[in-house]
Amino acid sequence: MSGKLSCNAEKCVNNINGLCSANNIHITGDESHSSRETGCETFSPKGLVNAMSNFTNMNLVGQFKQLFSADSIEMSPEIKCEAENCIYNVNELCTASNVQVYGPDARTTRETECETFKEH
Ligand code: SF4
Ligand code: SF4
Repeated sequence: MSGKLSCNAEKCVNNINGLCSANNIHITGDESHSSRETGCETFSPKGLVNAMSNFTNMNLVGQFKQLFSADSIEMSPEIKCEAENCIYNVNELCTASNVQVYGPDARTTRETECETFKEH
């Protein structure tokens, strides 16, 4: 993807102010026909141990760019995605310019979803 990855799963360790700070994320949803059947497998609940172990997957450069360019956010995490029924899925990689992950009360992957999913 080339744009921004927004996410409202605020209980995830990678979520910073509604944006995803991970370098890579993995969306599940093999045979999905709707957003609800997808999920962010990279979701990890906030906590000290998780914060430490997720450090290597942090996109610190992207994060700083986002902080300094509110209008055109230049964060391009690689999204590996299993939802092959989505129009943005090309060889299991997401090609959407902007992606929104949803999960305001999520405590597990199952409670998250890719809102940008669009069936072929
Ligand atoms: S749930 Fe997924 S997209 Fe959202 S912040 Fe966590 S890793 Fe990033
Ligand atoms: S927009 Fe489609 S291809 Fe991209 S992560 Fe979401 S479900 Fe996967």
